[in-house]
Amino acid sequence: MSILIKNALVVSQNARRRVHYTDVFIDENVITEISDHIRIEADYKIDGNGRMLLPGLINTHSHVAMGTMKGLVDDVGMEEFLSRTAKLDAAQTDASVYSGTSLGIAEMLRTGTTSFVDLYYSEDIIANAALPEGIRAFLSWVALDKGYTTQPGDPIKNAERFIREFDSKSDLLVPGVGLQGVYACSAETMLKAKELAERFDRILPMHISESAAEVAACKKRTGRTPLAYMEKVGAISGNMLAVHEVYPTPHELRLLQRHGISVSHNPVSNMKLGNGPAAPVPKMLASGINVTLGTDSVASNNSLDMFGTMKAAALLHKALGKDPTIVSAQDVLDMATINAANALHMGRKLGSIEEGKLADVILINPYQSGLPMSRKNAVSNAVYSLQGLNVEKTIVNGEIVMDVEAIHH
Ligand SMILES: [Zn+2]
Repeated sequence: MSILIKNALVVSQNARRRVHYTDVFIDENVITEISDHIRIEADYKIDGNGRMLLPGLINTHSHVAMGTMKGLVDDVGMEEFLSRTAKLDAAQTDASVYSGTSLGIAEMLRTGTTSFVDLYYSEDIIANAALPEGIRAFLSWVALDKGYTTQPGDPIKNAERFIREFDSKSDLLVPGVGLQGVYACSAETMLKAKELAERFDRILPMHISESAAEVAACKKRTGRTPLAYMEKVGAISGNMLAVHEVYPTPHELRLLQRHGISVSHNPVSNMKLGNGPAAPVPKMLASGINVTLGTDSVASNNSLDMFGTMKAAALLHKALGKDPTIVSAQDVLDMATINAANALHMGRKLGSIEEGKLADVILINPYQSGLPMSRKNAVSNAVYSLQGLNVEKTIVNGEIVMDVEAIHH
């Protein structure tokens, strides 16, 4: 199939961060031409007048199968949150994992997320639920010590079996492995997960330094803070995607930078659970650490709308730093697009609207929160004014997988 989008305001996120009115031609799953007045016939033509076209947003941290837990564990501290969600997780069935996933993906596609990173067990069921939705899914089977999990069998073996079984099922699916956190993973588990991720060349998402209690317990048990402890046991990998990193020490910031480890910043989840203040994003950006954005699950965010997370990220750091210049709208849009693509080792394929890249784009009707729309305010409006419900069409891999017109007719 081919798609021609005429005369949209394209927020390209290319190296020059160009914003311009132009036409975009999609042939099969690739953006093949971006230029004014394209005259090629396409199977599907979209009038982009009055519309913005953005790269699809990339959510680098979720537990999508918890989709049915929205609003069930609110306004409690981290400890109670973990014990109550663990009970809900233990009560999950294959059917509820599947339906929770479908629900979560529906929300993501509706609100302009075209790729997501997931960390959970039962990723085989999540993969089967994701496939018919047409979203790009980076599914990391969570590894942790046997004593801490209800998943049957050996989590590392489960993860490897999952990778092998789903590796060639679909271009949209990247099966992998992840780690729950230092509080549930022995050095042996971490080393095995690292070996597996590196052998299959996969990212390795891991919750790390999410709460003050986690850091204190790790220090008490090992004499070191979480990432420094991982360094000591040789478990650090350049494939890691460090999720949260609310409390990195200066040494740990240097480790992130030196190993090229990307960070998934989850501002809404951190604020809601009182795991404050927040990852030191301005410091991370200043030292060249690649920062991306995640929602976390709907149990700790209550929304998978990345527009909400973008706005929260920008405001949080301005407030904390008492400095409105500290994180810009452009910085935040980068986190949700090109930085995330780089974190997934997909920077050459995803994260921007450029010829030769995969066709993951979202068409936005800025009425009424992003108006007036112009080249000058497009990025600001995307971060500060728009909401996921402004998204009209979500295109993943050259397929229109969400179309508001189709929903309303
Ligand atoms: Zn999480």
